[in-house]
Amino acid sequence: MLRLQGINAILGVILVFMVLHLSFAPEHHDIRTTTTTMLGGVAFLLMTSSVILATRLSIFESAFGGLDRMYQVHRMAGTFVAVFALIHFFGVPKNIPEGVDPIANSLAPSSPLGMASLVFLVIGLFIALNRKISYSRWRMPHKAMAIVYMLVIGHFMTAPGVFFERFSASGFLLIGAAIVGAIALAYTMLGMNRRTAVPFTIEAVNRMERATEIVLKPQRDMIDFKPGQFAFLEVQGKGWSEPHPFTISSAPGEDRLRFTIKVLGDWTRKVREELHPGGEALVRGPYGRFDTEKARNRKQVWIAGGIGLTPFLSMLRGMEAGDERQIEFVYAARSREDAIFLEELQAIAQKLSNVSIHPLFSDEGEFARIEVAKQKLADPLATYEFFICGPKPMVDGLMNDLKTEGVARSSTHTEAFEFR
Ligand SMILES: Cc1cc2nc3c(=O)[nH]c(=O)nc-3n(C[C@H](O)[C@H](O)[C@H](O)COP(=O)(O)OP(=O)(O)OC[C@H]3O[C@@H](n4cnc5c(N)ncnc54)[C@H](O)[C@@H]3O)c2cc1C
Repeated sequence: MLRLQGINAILGVILVFMVLHLSFAPEHHDIRTTTTTMLGGVAFLLMTSSVILATRLSIFESAFGGLDRMYQVHRMAGTFVAVFALIHFFGVPKNIPEGVDPIANSLAPSSPLGMASLVFLVIGLFIALNRKISYSRWRMPHKAMAIVYMLVIGHFMTAPGVFFERFSASGFLLIGAAIVGAIALAYTMLGMNRRTAVPFTIEAVNRMERATEIVLKPQRDMIDFKPGQFAFLEVQGKGWSEPHPFTISSAPGEDRLRFTIKVLGDWTRKVREELHPGGEALVRGPYGRFDTEKARNRKQVWIAGGIGLTPFLSMLRGMEAGDERQIEFVYAARSREDAIFLEELQAIAQKLSNVSIHPLFSDEGEFARIEVAKQKLADPLATYEFFICGPKPMVDGLMNDLKTEGVARSSTHTEAFEFR
């Protein structure tokens, strides 16, 4: 679940900036200059937040409720950056006021830098929000946003004082943000957030009906993770390009790491068609806060749709006899054949007295809707804690139904399988 600490911190800094900017506005600034430069500053602070979140530092995970939530905030901040930057651009006066020395207050290079950053920003946002563009094609232009960030710093650091006093209270705040942002950018661009990469040997590639399971043997240490967490998997070798996020489907304590992967695009298809045992893969992580342990004292409903099974797979594989949680596990798949690992799950549930499995097959007319779940549950919905992972339409539909049924938002937990 999205935690508000991180968002509140971002809003807090923006608020301080706005108060400083409005309280100490130079006398020679008219209201239009003051407001439009303030919006430009807000856009820059949001951009800086995005840059900081892109470091993937684990301290931010707890403030935002997990890396997937950090990416959601990163994306939302990006959209607001473009909106505020556009208002700033169209609103800010374009000419030096009469009577002001045009040489001492030259608009060059601030103006062209601002213009260039706005054009790249809008193009970048269009690419980022266009889901038809595959992740690997989206990645390079997205990385180019680092240049845009530096252009924006250049823009306000060279702005003439007649429009923006950088050595003012709000200006100092922006300079401070620029220093922190530049450090964060260098950290990400130099690959320092990759330091935790742990090498594994690809031991097996098991092609199942609708998914591929990769079994990895540690070359040195096994990574330490909790069930439900995910990691970035980077296959070594030509043509394998960028790391991709996958939930760890093995249990902590196993001597192998397993990922279960569904074909959803070019990279995942390549895994299914071309990956062979023997190669090397780097694993970075773990990340994520999809943790059913945090609601130990509550009865739980787990709902998995298709490949959204993977976090629950790890949880069940790692569950010990005597676990006190009462768990109703609704596993929705297109058909009986699509329901990978169903037999293994049923065997685990038989050994544990606290888990009941309710498979739903949409080709038999059973969908993961709350009406169906209600029939399977003995007690009122509001008495359970819900953990949901699956395709976005399924998750959104269930969340709406649960809200309508009066289940508190704080009792529902979801894992998003996409970062864009
Ligand atoms: C937290 C999390 C856990 C996941 N767990 C699983 C799992 O257990 N099993 C499974 O099959 N799938 C899982 N996914 C989805 C998986 O990451 C994507 O299906 C896969 O990366 C698609 O890559 P592609 O090139 O084949 O497809 P593309 O068409 O290029 O990508 C499809 C979508 O996947 C996402 N994506 C692709 N590449 C990346 C990347 N390098 N980094 C971040 N996001 C990317 C983007 O949202 C993109 O729009 C998970 C995703 C996330 C975010």
